[in-house]
Amino acid sequence: MHTTTFAEMFELDFGGFIIDTPGIKGLGLVEIEDSELADYFPEMLAFKGQCKFHNCKHLNEPKCAVKSALDTGEIHLIRYDSYISILEDDGNQYRESKYH
Ligand SMILES: [Zn+2]
Repeated sequence: MHTTTFAEMFELDFGGFIIDTPGIKGLGLVEIEDSELADYFPEMLAFKGQCKFHNCKHLNEPKCAVKSALDTGEIHLIRYDSYISILEDDGNQYRESKYH
């Protein structure tokens, strides 16, 4: 059985990373707070400082820089979609149904 003993990061062709680290099961996202999630998306991190609200989740908040960047194509919809799907997941789904 393959056991990861050090962190490895793989870059994906379509823009993204898979991080394989010891001690993380499944997607390893369950410990990330909603408010921190955008920090794991470099292109969203680049814009979030310009959001009107410092705790902006980039959903329907007014004057959201991430949403503006989405409109102008500076952030790809596919990336925003994955952000939303992670944000909307309560985390339990991964532990209880997908990764027994
Ligand atoms: Zn925002």
